[in-house]
Amino acid sequence: MTAPWNASVLTLFPEVFPGPLGQSLAGRALERGIWSLAAENIRGFATDRHRTVDDTPFGGGAGMVMRPDVLDAALAAVADARPCIYLTPRGVPLTQARVRELADGPGVVLLCGRYEGVDQRVIEARGLVEINIGDYVLSGGELPAMVLLDACVRLLPGVMGAAESADEESFAAGLLEYPHYTRPAEWQGRRVPEVLLSGHHAAIATWRRQQSERITRERRPELWAAHQSALRPAVISGAPVATVPGAP
Ligand code: SAM
Repeated sequence: MTAPWNASVLTLFPEVFPGPLGQSLAGRALERGIWSLAAENIRGFATDRHRTVDDTPFGGGAGMVMRPDVLDAALAAVADARPCIYLTPRGVPLTQARVRELADGPGVVLLCGRYEGVDQRVIEARGLVEINIGDYVLSGGELPAMVLLDACVRLLPGVMGAAESADEESFAAGLLEYPHYTRPAEWQGRRVPEVLLSGHHAAIATWRRQQSERITRERRPELWAAHQSALRPAVISGAPVATVPGAP
């Protein structure tokens, strides 16, 4: 590991990495050594001759559970100062704030589950941070790992150029992003909002802000409520102008 930000992924399917992370922004950053990626096969840490990584659940029920001894050996082989994360539907949600925090650190160790998931004791013994990428169930942790890595890598210094700044993206200030338009100015009878053609920067900024607020209010009431409550103390103290919730 020599890059400024290092990712180790423990998986039963190391061959699927880097996959889409080898393309575009993340792929170029990987080539330039801004981050490193090592995908380790969990099966390599099994000790029996069949390379068994799972077993039936105590207490009965459907499916198989990944063994704690095999996972512990795999984690021991890569663990260092980086946070060790288990991708799981029952984890805390992956938010842009968490992504930012992880991107600001030394990197991550990611454990990808399969089957019914992993034995609880290894989660506790290794102090794994449980993270969920959305409220639905996938077949394995590989896609969630890629999602987390892509979100982090694009925030690493030098990955995005000025033209791709994260400052105005969704979630950066606790709001969803405003709509975008490009040429032609009229397409299938639909005109680009006049204000965007006006060249009036302050009016454009106001329009975009209003659109962000409207979209957030309509689509994500919980984000809107959080945004409103972050705004409230500053308004009461008489300093509403500088308040942009979630802004650095
Ligand atoms: N029995 C588990 C449950 O009900 O929560 C689901 C296991 S799922 C079939 C297999 C693996 O996929 C999990 O161990 C986890 O690593 C990964 N996975 C599935 N959905 C996920 C999600 N929404 N977020 C993060 N990881 C997920």
